[in-house]
Amino acid sequence: MLLSEVGYARPATLEQALGVLADYPGARALAGGQTLVNVMKARAAAPDVLVDLAAIPELKGIELGSDGTLELGAMVTYSELIASAEARARPILGEVCAQIADVQVRNRGTIGGNVCSSDPTNHLPPLFVALGAELTVAGPGGERTVPAQEFFLGVYLTAAGPGELLTKITVPPGRSDGFASVPIGVDGTCIVNAAASLNGGVRVALGCVGATPVVVEPASRDAENVQGAVRDAGIDPPSDVHASSDYRRHLAGVVAARAVEQAGQGS
Ligand SMILES: Cc1cc2nc3c(=O)[nH]c(=O)nc-3n(C[C@H](O)[C@H](O)[C@H](O)COP(=O)(O)OP(=O)(O)OC[C@H]3O[C@@H](n4cnc5c(N)ncnc54)[C@H](O)[C@@H]3O)c2cc1C
Repeated sequence: MLLSEVGYARPATLEQALGVLADYPGARALAGGQTLVNVMKARAAAPDVLVDLAAIPELKGIELGSDGTLELGAMVTYSELIASAEARARPILGEVCAQIADVQVRNRGTIGGNVCSSDPTNHLPPLFVALGAELTVAGPGGERTVPAQEFFLGVYLTAAGPGELLTKITVPPGRSDGFASVPIGVDGTCIVNAAASLNGGVRVALGCVGATPVVVEPASRDAENVQGAVRDAGIDPPSDVHASSDYRRHLAGVVAARAVEQAGQGS
């Protein structure tokens, strides 16, 4: 289906982008367009103006601090992150991005767009929650940081509200991370996924089982313990054509244990 007519702005600075969003309440940020353009074609979204973030230098780049902290610009694409020498400080980032869809989507899709979509089946929301990342949001009133666990508010709903932009994602130092999923076919959308981090306790974030990632903190990394903690979390996953709620609940324990096992290999 063809796109409806829509205005287009390509600001050169973050300030200009925030200005356009303030001037046009029906405007929407455009990152890689891999989700937004598709929902516009399906007439599920109809912004008045697309504010293309591609030319804003403040939203680009990957910086590695001397203590191992990574600062990832919101407009970093999956392919850039996979190829980045700096991002190898936290290898799980590139490993998970390499599992997203196909090369076309990875070349255009951005980490900012991925989290701002807050699609429960996306790979990056549970990953950033497990890693304890912080997200920086800029708006007319200035900048604030939001822990990843508080950023995801619901399906397609995040702490970056109307008129605001996600500018960067800060990932603390660490190496003991894991990710596991059951996708629909190779590189397909996840039926269930889990990210784990052992940097200071066992922390697991489950994806596809609720509107937002569900955090589980098992007392130990032992597989039975992890599966027990997922059972005790009382998740109520959706049922659909790909998996029943019960099957998703079962898979959540399985992928959580696998993610923790991988994380244990990095410690
Ligand atoms: C065929 C296909 C398969 C896919 N499979 C997967 C998959 O398996 N796993 C997965 O994780 N993803 C998958 N995706 C989604 C893909 O990863 C998208 O790239 C991602 O969800 C959105 O990123 P984007 O840069 O394209 O954002 P866009 O589509 O441009 O934007 C998405 C939303 O985020 C908002 N937004 C973007 N950037 C910002 C910002 N900086 N500040 C505030 N709001 C912002 C936009 O306004 C829009 O509402 C798939 C996409 C396709 C087309």
